[in-house]
Amino acid sequence: MRAEDGAPGFLTGEWCGILAILLMSNESTSETTLTPVMRQYFAAKEQHPDCLMFCRIGDFYELFYEDAILVSRELQLTLTARDREKKQPMCGVPYHAAEVYLQRLLRKGYKIALCEQMEDPKQTKTIVRREVTRVLTPGTALDPALGAEQSNYLASVCVLGSGAAQVCGLALLDLSTGEFRATEFAGSDGWGSLVDELGRVRPVELLYGTGLLGGVGSSGRLRLGEESGRAAHDAHLSDDETVAKMGHPDSVTASETAAGLDGIRTKTAVEEWVFTAEYAVPLVRNHFKVHSLDGMGLGGHEAAAVAAGALLHYMRATKQGGLEHVDGLRFYERSTCLELDAVSVRNLELVEPLFSGESAQTTLFYTMDACCTPMGKRLLRATLLRPASGLAEIEARLEAVGEAAGDLRRREGLRRSMDGVLDLERLLGRVAADSAGPREVMALAHTLGCLPGVVGAVRLFESARWQELGASIDPLEDLHEMIVGTIAEEPPVSLGDGGAIREGVDAELDELRELSRSGRQALVAIEERERARTGIGSLKVRFNTVFGYYLEVTKANAKAVPADYERKQTLVNAERFTTPELKEYESKILTAQERSGEIERRLFAELRRQLLEAAARMRETARKVAEIDLLGCFAHLAALRGWVRPQVEASGVLEFVQARHPVVERRLEESGGGRFVPNSVHLDADAGPAVLLITGPNMGGKSTYLRMAALLVVMAQMGCFVPAERMRLGLVDRIYTRIGASDNVARGRSTFMVEMTETAAILNTATARSLVLLDEMGRGTATYDGLSLAWATVEHLHDRIGARTLFATHYHELTLLAERLARLTNLRVTVKETASGIVFLHTVEAGPASKSYGIEVARLAGLPTAVIARAREVLKVHERAETQQVREASPSPQMQMTMFTPLSQRIVDRLAEADVDGLTPREALNLLAELQRELKG
Ligand code: ADP
Ligand code: MG
Repeated sequence: MRAEDGAPGFLTGEWCGILAILLMSNESTSETTLTPVMRQYFAAKEQHPDCLMFCRIGDFYELFYEDAILVSRELQLTLTARDREKKQPMCGVPYHAAEVYLQRLLRKGYKIALCEQMEDPKQTKTIVRREVTRVLTPGTALDPALGAEQSNYLASVCVLGSGAAQVCGLALLDLSTGEFRATEFAGSDGWGSLVDELGRVRPVELLYGTGLLGGVGSSGRLRLGEESGRAAHDAHLSDDETVAKMGHPDSVTASETAAGLDGIRTKTAVEEWVFTAEYAVPLVRNHFKVHSLDGMGLGGHEAAAVAAGALLHYMRATKQGGLEHVDGLRFYERSTCLELDAVSVRNLELVEPLFSGESAQTTLFYTMDACCTPMGKRLLRATLLRPASGLAEIEARLEAVGEAAGDLRRREGLRRSMDGVLDLERLLGRVAADSAGPREVMALAHTLGCLPGVVGAVRLFESARWQELGASIDPLEDLHEMIVGTIAEEPPVSLGDGGAIREGVDAELDELRELSRSGRQALVAIEERERARTGIGSLKVRFNTVFGYYLEVTKANAKAVPADYERKQTLVNAERFTTPELKEYESKILTAQERSGEIERRLFAELRRQLLEAAARMRETARKVAEIDLLGCFAHLAALRGWVRPQVEASGVLEFVQARHPVVERRLEESGGGRFVPNSVHLDADAGPAVLLITGPNMGGKSTYLRMAALLVVMAQMGCFVPAERMRLGLVDRIYTRIGASDNVARGRSTFMVEMTETAAILNTATARSLVLLDEMGRGTATYDGLSLAWATVEHLHDRIGARTLFATHYHELTLLAERLARLTNLRVTVKETASGIVFLHTVEAGPASKSYGIEVARLAGLPTAVIARAREVLKVHERAETQQVREASPSPQMQMTMFTPLSQRIVDRLAEADVDGLTPREALNLLAELQRELKG
């Protein structure tokens, strides 16, 4: 496509661009209309149409046409042109500095193909051969700036079978750590669950079969971002189409699709045949060199295996090396943990702030992160997204946390033992990718060296979990010895610099080093001797890679040079010479260096091989260290912040006394914004209140109260202590959190529709063991509609589902529900009315809100006094009308319910308007009949 756009202008044959000059001077050009380089470019582009093509020309990577325009904008580079008419845009980045630019583009979600020179331009007379040697994509390239707590998942999805037998497979690979896992979702809602899982995991890149996502296929090839408005627009359209076209429309709700797929910037279509069992499963078997996948828990999970195989295929197709550390594939199941759907993860700000651009300090992750190691941070993040659901697992952790929380000395000993522990998994990843130099390997050794200390510290604890960890962790002492026995204590950054291997490892290496050392001393001696002999005090023995060793003499002294000097090179101010003696030393030193370089490379490669052989052990140890770190972190928080051990049980209770919202509390503390006001909750799904209806003014603390409840449940099921005086928790199977549409407008979706789909998902899937939070439901539509929907939803949750529910609303009409629903309790956030207005007390107490404080809040917000006064007048009129309606509508409970519907309002209005005295009996009867018709619908 781009070839066609660009070709016509190009075919007219303008040759004057910068590039043309560069090329003509460098390479022969043919008589055809395309330069050979451009033919190479178009051929490469055809093979990788979805990639930005970085074409190596001399010391630069050049980009052409659309790629050039896009990249120049993304990276703020100067856009030049190859021709006078500027129809053939180009831009470039220097080869040596390319890394930074590449990373920036990858982070923005682009894919990049590197088209390299396959021959040395100096060695060839004809055109240099160019080929795409690597494709970099967000999911396959290692980003050195990746945060320690972040993961960089490449995901692959597939759907096998159809109808009731349909199974959706998902595989996830984090190349930076080697973590590789897969799962499956079966049944009619399989696809929805998979998309939801994607929303939680948030991979940076998604692979799918060309047929799978329907509309995404065409533009999923590359998301062009804001640069080209059209392309972005198209891409967006096709995302919406996805919902319609995806083979299973009824199982996919708009919100799930939005949350799960929207966030993934790079979606890569892979040929459909790759996602077949015949092709993909053997790839997995071959990679792990196993006969059957049963040992990985993948037996009978073909869809998961196919997704994993397709992922390996892609790694191959993009020419990624360094997969040695990906030494295992794990089948995992979501049902073993507390389920948090993607919408709740976002609403609760577990790991990311609700609005991008806001500081990460609003997240629970930030508040809880006191981990000492990168592995611990990643586990904390993963655990936040998948808290446990089994009582035994939670209890085991709480027990361990409790022991460490109560013993400052041992706890600090443990945490300090992890001080020098670096990112074991990432270092291993770099070793596998062959991008680890001697310093990184030494860093790995330092980390391994800390492990015995960690193990010792763990073994001082007595609870079962600590004992288990202490007994099963492999401190990898052999690997530590192997590295420190091979690598020099202070190795150079790069292997090529020499000196990476320790003395005494290889006799020949030591000898060669001695030789080049003595050779260098000899050169110093030669310099001194020649200075004395010629009387030229500034004479120097120097070295460069092109001319080797030489004697340099300034122009002024050139006359004094003895006859046995051979001229090598003349510079503006100096002459360079050599002598037979110098040549001899030169060859001795250079051969010695070359040979010792070879030996060092060989020994280093051997070490690397041995380390990779032990990759599985290292990863296992890294997992254990992460677990130790996490428990230590929980213990530290419990002690530092006065958190208490929750009482976890298999009941329907959710009760806290004097609980605090951990994030808001910490933010108040740090900003000096006052003290958090603790509040209590009592819910019981089996007996007692199941639904709490919280009313009160905006800014009163309703949303905070709701979120606090959910966060404490998440924390408790993670095995962490909680900020409360006391907490009793009957295990929760799922948490649902919905925020009314108008709180969501910033997200720019058809908000009411999103809110209703989300509510539908709750009403269809919540169980009696779930925790449901509904915050300002129904705000996104007309008052009466919203109120009616909220009313019906609360009834359904109360009567049919029986889930523990917290419902915050500004519709204080809903408080009437308490009269009808036995297990609904009204709560209100309190305010104090003072002469100068209202003060928020943030205390939650029993009872319905007595009135709406909207106007008071508006006054606090600074609305002009005239507007406030007028609003008070209008309100009075309405309140009078309402009281009247209520009076008229009572005592029938049905009428009470419909008093706020627009229908009854119309009927009331017509009755009020009717001129009873002026009506004929017939007219009166007609009116009556009409009103009745309207009432019956
Ligand atoms: P609502 O949902 O009722 O409009 P929010 O929960 O959004 O109110 O709370 C409004 C503000 O009050 C927030 O900025 C929050 O920090 C503060 N706040 C809420 N609850 C408390 C509390 N218990 N103690 C101290 N400050 C609180
Ligand atoms: Mg609110």
